[in-house]
Amino acid sequence: MRVVKNSAIAKVFSDIADLLEIKGEIPFKIRAYQKAARAIDHLPTEIEQMVKEGGDLKDIPGVGEAIAKKITELVTTGKLHYYEELRAEFPEGISTLLDIPGVGPKIAIRLCNELGINTIEDLEGAILDGRVASLPRLGDKVAENILRQIQAMRTKERRIPIGEALPVVEDIMAELRQNPDLRNLTPAGSLRRFRETVGDIDLMGTTDDRERILDAFVGLPQVKEVLAMGGTKASILVPGDLQIDLRLVDHDSFGSLLQYFTGSKQHNIALRERGHRQKLKLSEYGITDLESGVIDKFTTEEAFYERLGLQFIPPELREGQWEVERAEQNAIPRLIEPGDLKGDLHLHTQWSDGHDSIESIALAARARGYQYIAITDHSAGRGIARGLNEERLRRQIIEIRELNERMDGFRILAGIEVDIRADGTLDLPEDLLAELDIVFAAVHSAMNQEQDKMTQRILRAIKNPHVHVLAHPTCRLLGEREPIRADLEAIFRAAAETNTALEINAMPSRLDLKDIHAFRAKELGVKLIIATDAHSSSQLDLIRFGVGVARRGWCEAKHILNTSPLEDVEAFLKHR
Ligand SMILES: [Zn+2]
Ligand SMILES: [Zn+2]
Repeated sequence: MRVVKNSAIAKVFSDIADLLEIKGEIPFKIRAYQKAARAIDHLPTEIEQMVKEGGDLKDIPGVGEAIAKKITELVTTGKLHYYEELRAEFPEGISTLLDIPGVGPKIAIRLCNELGINTIEDLEGAILDGRVASLPRLGDKVAENILRQIQAMRTKERRIPIGEALPVVEDIMAELRQNPDLRNLTPAGSLRRFRETVGDIDLMGTTDDRERILDAFVGLPQVKEVLAMGGTKASILVPGDLQIDLRLVDHDSFGSLLQYFTGSKQHNIALRERGHRQKLKLSEYGITDLESGVIDKFTTEEAFYERLGLQFIPPELREGQWEVERAEQNAIPRLIEPGDLKGDLHLHTQWSDGHDSIESIALAARARGYQYIAITDHSAGRGIARGLNEERLRRQIIEIRELNERMDGFRILAGIEVDIRADGTLDLPEDLLAELDIVFAAVHSAMNQEQDKMTQRILRAIKNPHVHVLAHPTCRLLGEREPIRADLEAIFRAAAETNTALEINAMPSRLDLKDIHAFRAKELGVKLIIATDAHSSSQLDLIRFGVGVARRGWCEAKHILNTSPLEDVEAFLKHR
């Protein structure tokens, strides 16, 4: 979904006017575009909305038949053929610079001809070293504005890890919900589908008092900048340069609108194609029977899917893969939910690099309703100062056994996150590993090994009879470190064969395994564990990010080991 704002439409027409002027076209034609650009820029309503509602664009002063057609093309496709062609008549550098809001053809040509600027990077450099400001009739203010526009463009391209975005959005939603006039407030888009990174955030809701809710939204204390404000929608920028849009919609179409704005695009295309075969036309406002012309509106998404003869499809599955066919066969499973989890099995304490004592993290876990946890501090080989050597690990095991005597109806498993050395051997002696309840093995060093060597290294660890779980199998850090190179298919098969569990590490910077890998591992019969890798009690809450990944990987409770009661977990660990 591309949002075409009035200001962007106005810029296109004003660019056209300038380009025509540079070409020496007749003034009459040029003035028509200038007039339209000005009118659009000052319009109080969003043109996008007018087009969607079938309003007559010719009502806008200065807009005739030809320009109305161009506006419609621009709003519905995001592009205007005539404008593209006109730009193509000029050098490529000029055309590139025109993509920046605030840079029109006249400035673009001067930047190109007088400073030799051809790319956005060139331009940024020339602004920073003062060359742009020194051009006659440009000055500091124009230069500064262009720089801001470039930075805003970059922000738009940037995607933010869901772990950063979700808490910010939830804070904002909690504040908005204080307003009793606002109902059905929910995020749409990739956040609702729980993708690992998100772009702009779309919030949706219904209300009888749009003006008041939008005022409250743009007046939130988190607002850094109000990007747009219309009759039904407002956009704000909050710290972290996250753009959040709030769209207030009609209650009787809420279900189909939420469905539409949740996407994904591929999922919606699959639905539209299915509708087409049933002689139904889908839109964000409802479903139209093409034979009778009657439009059905939907207050809930459930009713929308039902009208198409489909089982409800959870947002996390809406990626346009095979979810529509499965829904048709009533074969969408009940996905795992946070409440299914009975314990967290990957936790660090003060004994290595964590912040809390074993007892305090155990109490926090019990307070969440968990029945068990595992303490899995680091082994010493990792080189961090506080990794456990043999002697300290033996002492830790004793402390855990003592704590268990005191904890009623709750069990602490003694474990370790042992390093897999570069050759695939483990960092602690086997007789000691044999004493532990649970052993996680993980790669923390020599991550640049070539694929074959890395695969052999991990396979060796998986085949070690003392290893129960492979932690964060690909070692990626979102946006920071690429995954290790390893043959995951071979690793999944070996894990299935040896009954070694694989972790879905819920730490938002990891999310490892990721969704498609969790799906594949599950298909191959691998047992999965969702764990936080928490280094403090407060991080126990991060488990939901792992659950989101598992849901996107079509995992049900039965695929996840730590949804089982303690006896079954212990049976699995012993069986290994
Ligand atoms: Zn680790
Ligand atoms: Zn860890």
